[in-house]
Amino acid sequence: MEQVCPLCNGLADAGVKCRACGMTMEDGGMWSDYAGPYAPYELTAHVKQENGGQCTHLLHCPQCGNEAYAIIQSDFI
Ligand SMILES: [Zn+2]
Ligand SMILES: [Zn+2]
Repeated sequence: MEQVCPLCNGLADAGVKCRACGMTMEDGGMWSDYAGPYAPYELTAHVKQENGGQCTHLLHCPQCGNEAYAIIQSDFI
């Protein structure tokens, strides 16, 4: 058994609707991705978060561009 974030692994959608327009928001990836492709410190922070059973994702709305953070609870697979 391994504890993984379902969003990081493409197992599930966030299922969050945009507060502004109601459109289903898309996963923009881990928030740490926005620090740049080579950000080992941020990546380490993410791994620590995931080990704690939670993973922070930045979602964006494809319709109006609204952004929101979602705390994703990891599942055991
Ligand atoms: Zn994740
Ligand atoms: Zn929207």
